[in-house]
Amino acid sequence: MIRLYNTKTRQKEDFAPLDPANVRMYVCGPTVYDRAHLGNARPVLVFDVLYRLLRHHYGETNVTYVRNFTDVDDRINETAQKRKAAGAEGTMEELIHARSNETIRWYHEDMDALGALRPTHEPRATEYIPQMVAMIEGLIGKGHAYDAEGHVLFAVDSWKEGYGKLSGRSVEDMIAGARVEVAPYKKNPMDFVLWKPSDDDLPGWDSPWGRGRPGWHIECSAMAHELLGESFDIHGGGIDLQFPHHENEIAQSCCAHPEGEFARVWMHNEMLQVEGKKMSKSLGNFFTVHDLLEQGVPGEVIRFVMLSTHYRKPMDWTEKKREEAEATLRKWFSQLEASLVQSNVPNTFLELLKDDLNSPGGLAALHRLSDSGDVAGLRGGLEILGLLNGQVPDWAKTSGISLEGVNVIASINVSQPLEPLAKIARRWQAMRDEKKFEDSDGLKTALNELGIELRSTKDGPEIEASRAFDPAKLEALK
Ligand code: AMP
Ligand code: ZN
Repeated sequence: MIRLYNTKTRQKEDFAPLDPANVRMYVCGPTVYDRAHLGNARPVLVFDVLYRLLRHHYGETNVTYVRNFTDVDDRINETAQKRKAAGAEGTMEELIHARSNETIRWYHEDMDALGALRPTHEPRATEYIPQMVAMIEGLIGKGHAYDAEGHVLFAVDSWKEGYGKLSGRSVEDMIAGARVEVAPYKKNPMDFVLWKPSDDDLPGWDSPWGRGRPGWHIECSAMAHELLGESFDIHGGGIDLQFPHHENEIAQSCCAHPEGEFARVWMHNEMLQVEGKKMSKSLGNFFTVHDLLEQGVPGEVIRFVMLSTHYRKPMDWTEKKREEAEATLRKWFSQLEASLVQSNVPNTFLELLKDDLNSPGGLAALHRLSDSGDVAGLRGGLEILGLLNGQVPDWAKTSGISLEGVNVIASINVSQPLEPLAKIARRWQAMRDEKKFEDSDGLKTALNELGIELRSTKDGPEIEASRAFDPAKLEALK
């Protein structure tokens, strides 16, 4: 039995899908105006692990996962306007489309590098405008929405019994606590936009209320309904979306389709911070997934660090965690390389994941499997967590090459000739044989600073170069 914490009921519940042959999940995806930052990767990885767990439990073809692209947004328009001002060719519409396409391509590259499976459907908001218009018309028809000055607004007073349930606040509390856009045409300050007019030079679609564009919340409601139906199992996203985005999605969907329940389980990941601080451009600690990959941080390492904190706890990205994750993965991958056993997912490990996605517990279980030499279990666990997709990744492969009595270990992406390393290890061994320990220890320390480890084993000296090692620096030691 899988148990999941439901934000709506504020408790862990046994998960019972409406249809075990088609388990359905919707996760709010990115607004495609720029590269995904590290925080954006957290929901992707959390729900990727859930997707993998559901596929393992219910069968690979029995899970439908939808994650949208929001490609109607002022920030996308702004980048296109800037390009146009800088002399780019094409209409605004073309430039906006080009920006969305480019961002979606980057998103796929980056999330693929983190080992995230592509969802079953990745709808783009601009391809579901007729469905949004139809949903808005339905809401007006049922008395849940009204049009005013080219805008269509959802009337929160028309659904007092439901609005605010997800966030646990009454409409009155919300008004008191929220920064709401005050507009003369709103009947209640909490009423939110379903449709708004569009400037002539910006993307817009014809509608019964004039040329305009949808509000952000209605996009998700319409796409979820089209692809998953009136009732489905899981809806996810970051905790920052709980209010107002998810509250508004619920209001729209439940009022447009009162015969359905919309999403039954609501799951929210907590936020990511960097070295204890909110990630922000002004603090200079803002970086994208692409930045980290460019620096040579492997996708598996990013994923490992993300999963080492439970998804409902705030997580801190630190350099120390990154280093530890890399060292652990190198150790585990070398165990896999040394063994040909097939994977076998141990129940002890699965039970942890089934308990509201306890990924830190899962990683601790993998440490135990590694220590006890259960390579089949280790392999199976790494696969479910998405840390191993087929082969051991190149960055973790080591070439342990014996060069005239010296074992030389170097990551294969360190493309230095190995003989100079073997030579230095021989020199170190000679010093030790002559009992010149001061000299040998001095050399060892100097090499350590260059990212090289020296060891003496029963088969002779062993030298290991880390990825940080720069072969050019070896010259200085001669
Ligand atoms: P956005 O493109 O801003 O709508 O965000 C896409 C997804 O990333 C949403 O599910 C957000 O909740 C999530 N998200 C944004 N910032 C963070 C963060 N710092 N930590 C975790 N999740 C985040
Ligand atoms: Zn959404």
